[in-house]
Amino acid sequence: MSGLVVAMDGPSGSGKSSASRGIARALGLRYLDTGAMYRAVTWWMLERGVDLADPAAVAARCHEPALEIGTDPDAPGIGVDGTDVSGPIRSKEVTRAVSAVSAVPEVRRRLVDLQRQIIGTGDIVVEGRDIGTVVAPDASLKIYLTASADARARRRTAELTGTSTEEQRAEMARRDELDSTRKTDPLAMAADAVELDTTPLDLDEVIAEVLRLVKERIT
Ligand code: C5P
Repeated sequence: MSGLVVAMDGPSGSGKSSASRGIARALGLRYLDTGAMYRAVTWWMLERGVDLADPAAVAARCHEPALEIGTDPDAPGIGVDGTDVSGPIRSKEVTRAVSAVSAVPEVRRRLVDLQRQIIGTGDIVVEGRDIGTVVAPDASLKIYLTASADARARRRTAELTGTSTEEQRAEMARRDELDSTRKTDPLAMAADAVELDTTPLDLDEVIAEVLRLVKERIT
């Protein structure tokens, strides 16, 4: 299975992270969370007080933060300028702000380059919004995960504290709208992706289905 690249795209709450890590673990592959990279740049911009409503200001500074990205599916840490930001990048503030930062073309250019360097010759599961369409159009297998708005909001609420299903549903709808309608590399399903609706499935069933597809298509 040398050189394998599994692209896992889909909206927030579709179960990408847990499934991607489980698949990487099962196949002995590396794992790359591209959303964490956009979150890390957003965290750095908020720390520095950059005006996120001003795309030119974001573009001007997006090359400054030095990112350290882990690819171990058991402990995929992420650091910025030597600080571990694995926890802070999941805050409400970062989650609210990340779509504005990820819509800036210069940010995407920098992070897509970095993602391609990390993917290198493969043996990796990569999750995001534009992996099958832009980052790794030649991926061995492309999966597009979906789930009903209800299921996604319920799952996200179970993962977080101090929130409600209603709040999560509204926040996800807002983020999906921004991510799907931006001009550069919007959230989209690649023409050759397999769409997998995870609404009726638990995590183990999603992982099993993707492993079945890997076996069927690649070995
Ligand atoms: O997957 P996660 O929810 O952590 O992603 C955070 C945000 O990063 C998304 O809402 C989107 O704005 C951005 N993103 C992106 N392209 C990717 C991965 C994430 O624009 N490949």
